[in-house]
Amino acid sequence: MEDRVLTRAGHSCEFCGSKELVALYEVPFSPASEADTHVAACQVCRDQLDGTASLSPDHWRCLNDAIWSPVAPVQVVAWRMLHKLKSESWAQDLLDIAYLEDTVKAWGEAGLVDLDREPTLDCNGVALSAGDNVHLVKDLNVKGAGFTAKRGTPVRNISLSDNPLHIEGRVNGTRIVIIAAYTKKS
Ligand SMILES: [Zn+2]
Repeated sequence: MEDRVLTRAGHSCEFCGSKELVALYEVPFSPASEADTHVAACQVCRDQLDGTASLSPDHWRCLNDAIWSPVAPVQVVAWRMLHKLKSESWAQDLLDIAYLEDTVKAWGEAGLVDLDREPTLDCNGVALSAGDNVHLVKDLNVKGAGFTAKRGTPVRNISLSDNPLHIEGRVNGTRIVIIAAYTKKS
């Protein structure tokens, strides 16, 4: 996996292009259905992503390019970082024009919530609880398990997750993490 990501990245930071101390960074709050949950980032970027170093807004001007990356986890990190920086007018401007597929945007939003207080909501904003039954409101490609869970598939006796935007449940006998907003309480 490391080789694959580093090859994809050309052994450069997928944000600023630096080749200094490039290593993998796992995107927080990645849904289990995503095969690619890591990005390659240089030490300067990684330290600011994980909060080890304070944010240097000008360093992230590189997001002008990174937000258009074809690589979903790169888009997710870029989009979340633009949210953190949106007091900078250039960052807000970039957020306004950024385009993310719905699933990528949901992934990005999963990292923006306050974990302690957010309820887990279905597609209609109805709060979900452990033990509820739901069904899927869109087809989900479960990449790790190699099948597509079809829209309408029931998921019984769900569990909540540490991440309020996710639930867990069994589909086709496999326990998977599902984005709560892609489900409807039955
Ligand atoms: Zn970098």
